[in-house]
Amino acid sequence: MPKKYQLTYSFGAGKAQGRAEMRERLGGKGAGLHEMTRIGVPVPPGFTIPTEVCSYFSAHQKRYPKGLEKAVAVALKDVEKILGRVFGDPANPLLVSVRSGARDSMPGMMDTVLNLGLNDRTVDGLAARSKNPRFAFDSYRRFVQMYADVVLGIKSKDKSAADPLGQILDDKKLRRGVQEDSELTVADLRELVSEYKSEVRSRLGKDFPEDPYEQLWGAIGAVFGSWNNDRAIAYRELYRIPHQWGTAVNVQAMVFGNLGDRCATGVTFTRDPATGEKRPYGEFLVNAQGEDVVAGIRTPRSITELRQVMPKAFDQLRRICRLLEKHFREMQDIEFTIEDDHLWVLQTRTGKRTGFASLRIAVDLVTERIISRQEALLRVEPDQLNQLLRPIFDRKGKEIAQQEGRLLGRGLPAGPGAATGRLVFHAEDAVTWNNRGEHVILCRIETSPDDIRGMDAAQGILTARGGMTSHAALVARQMGKVCVAGCEAIQIDYTRRVLHVEQTELREGDWISIDGSTGAVFRGEIQTLPSEILQVLLLNRSRDGRQSNIYQYFSKLMKWADQTRKLGVRTNADQPDQAAIAKAFGSEGIGLCRTEHMFFQGDRIQAVREMILADDETGRRRALAKLLPMQRQDFKGILGIMGNLPVTIRTLDPPLHEFLPKTDAEIQELAQVMGVEVGTLSNKVNVLHEFNPMLGHRGCRLGISYPEITEMQAQAIFEAACELRREGQNPFPEIMIPLVGSRQELHEQRVIVDRVAAETMKRFGVKVRYSIGTMIELPRACMVADEIAEEAEFFSFGTNDLTQTCLGLSRDDAGRFLPSYVLHGLLPDDPFVSIDRDGVGALMRIAIAKGRRRRKGLEMGICGEHGGEPRSIEFCHRIGLDYVSCSPYRIAIAKLSAAQAALRK
Ligand code: PEP
Ligand code: MG
Repeated sequence: MPKKYQLTYSFGAGKAQGRAEMRERLGGKGAGLHEMTRIGVPVPPGFTIPTEVCSYFSAHQKRYPKGLEKAVAVALKDVEKILGRVFGDPANPLLVSVRSGARDSMPGMMDTVLNLGLNDRTVDGLAARSKNPRFAFDSYRRFVQMYADVVLGIKSKDKSAADPLGQILDDKKLRRGVQEDSELTVADLRELVSEYKSEVRSRLGKDFPEDPYEQLWGAIGAVFGSWNNDRAIAYRELYRIPHQWGTAVNVQAMVFGNLGDRCATGVTFTRDPATGEKRPYGEFLVNAQGEDVVAGIRTPRSITELRQVMPKAFDQLRRICRLLEKHFREMQDIEFTIEDDHLWVLQTRTGKRTGFASLRIAVDLVTERIISRQEALLRVEPDQLNQLLRPIFDRKGKEIAQQEGRLLGRGLPAGPGAATGRLVFHAEDAVTWNNRGEHVILCRIETSPDDIRGMDAAQGILTARGGMTSHAALVARQMGKVCVAGCEAIQIDYTRRVLHVEQTELREGDWISIDGSTGAVFRGEIQTLPSEILQVLLLNRSRDGRQSNIYQYFSKLMKWADQTRKLGVRTNADQPDQAAIAKAFGSEGIGLCRTEHMFFQGDRIQAVREMILADDETGRRRALAKLLPMQRQDFKGILGIMGNLPVTIRTLDPPLHEFLPKTDAEIQELAQVMGVEVGTLSNKVNVLHEFNPMLGHRGCRLGISYPEITEMQAQAIFEAACELRREGQNPFPEIMIPLVGSRQELHEQRVIVDRVAAETMKRFGVKVRYSIGTMIELPRACMVADEIAEEAEFFSFGTNDLTQTCLGLSRDDAGRFLPSYVLHGLLPDDPFVSIDRDGVGALMRIAIAKGRRRRKGLEMGICGEHGGEPRSIEFCHRIGLDYVSCSPYRIAIAKLSAAQAALRK
């Protein structure tokens, strides 16, 4: 038996049984309705059935807990009392909406039924009360259509076609020669309802339910059931929402935005969700129901126009916006309806926003003394900072496109950034094309929640219909996708896979470019450039000679993050230009410089191959001597840029055959260049072949077999450092030995490095500060970390290899099946993305404890890919690492994640 819990929570007339803090139980929407009622916001009365009932319903073959029916009847009576209307009363009927509402918002993923309680008798009561038969019958036909779809499951088999009742509506409009629903007469609507009902009867073999209570229970069941529909499940997987949470159901008295010209419905945000600016923002439609705005059926008007149309309601709405933002201390997304000039608020929730808006709102709320700096740091999703670094169009390229008349039209700037790609019209195609490496723009008349995976795969999203709060716009913003919504100039033909803008035709696969910051849509490809922040950071350049606004917000937040975090943040960089980017982002050193990457530049590979193919040490040394000056130059560049910050340089790591040719043709070509027999070369390549190269002759094993390689690399490092020292700089190289599994291995390499360091410094007559340490990337290294610590001044966790060796999962091959492991819950996450805390994490804890016990002050960091992933960074903070090292473009994300980890303790 389930634990005892309350089965319904009522709200209305200034009183509510729930509160904002009860979102786990009442869902976000429910908790918001209760809280708004408490603080005096005009909310239509209703009640919430809590999430526990959804869990019970899912676990008990769609049955309800005992007592629910009675609790619902009692709660409904309360609503009737408040409004003086009765559910099912033919003279003065109460109509309700039945809506889902999970703990975290899942926009458009679950079901809703509106106008419930209408039947052939109550519709006349509604017509009489409203003195508006057209409205009554329009509501009725909407209700039957929605109920048939959501509750009775009458859908078209062909996803791209209208639903069967929608088809009946379209046919009717065609026969009457009208464009808009609103042009249909009362008689047309009456006929439509009976045509809908016959369609239901012929498809289901039973009548459409007339009894309002039967309708109500049908809708409640459908909304609970919709928690487990495909798109809701896909959404939860994408946003990591636990499947066991369940949704609440809100049953609420209907108010009507479609009673006439004194009525409207709309959505407003307390700040601009695209830019974060504090200004009236949102959309409304006169004489319409709320779903019309969200579904993008009619393109709505900007909220600022409401000031002229209904000034009193507009002022009241602005007051409520301020009240709600102050009360919730956060930007709100508010749904409202105006019925005969009377404003009702139907929903408030924390507004989804772009990375730009997230940053600006957090910083502004601090300036306005609404939240603290700490709260501001916790409000910005670290990964959202990625959006700020998103490309913009090359100005020249855009001007040329304009001059050439390639501007196809303008829509709404729904998701900032510039994207260019090939045109696809179906979500599945976006996924397939993306999988084969194409950049695509997904173009739809309007995106539906079924398109979510395609939207995720696309570079950008373009819709022909819908506003800034249409489903497409909301989801795109949340995903951080470039999006242009409601570009009405576009005509799409899904079957032929073409779009038209007047005489211009674009086919699937043609290039198209969209600007989600201005709404412009261009034919053809336009080159994209780094974002404003990158331009200021990297090129020290800004528009009009001023630092951009967004850069100022960014640097303020970064300053707060720097003051808060405990973890150091370094970068993985192999080349001077990468080091420069990292420095501009405020990197505190280089945590990993993979020296082998330098071997692939220019014609160096030739010398590397000579070294590998040499028959003896003398031959190897001859080739190494050619590499020495090149490596010295690289190291000097990197050490010079980083000043006195630590630069961790790793000695050669990958198996040698990675540098050799693979195909017969390549072998032939190389043999010719080197002046050796093809057979001899091909033999050598075969000898070096390994069945499992990741566990083969690599890492420190190379330096142990061929000490002269380590020797050359150490010499290049110290010569570079000594030259810089002579030039008055104070470089700090840290030499790191890879894939160490025992103390002895590190000892042998250390002896070489120390000797070369001493010799070089003597030769140059200068002293260079340096340290020697090791990667910890094998389980054995973790278990004998105390012994290894005797030889190491620092540890750097190579969690890529440590994950590979701990889980026995090939980092090169696991991608083929890991997604299905994650999908089926066998692993909570891809362990190469987010640290496997129970396995790899446990090994790290052992290594940290053992290492620190043996050597006080042993410095520890991480340089695997996990060093730039927010959840892994939190773990690194918890286990007491000194720093994380990540790719240059993730430094801001790492700093913010580290600050959040420190604040979350
Ligand atoms: C690691 O293994 O985590 C690491 C940083 O080294 P690489 O990826 O070069 O093997
Ligand atoms: Mg490694």
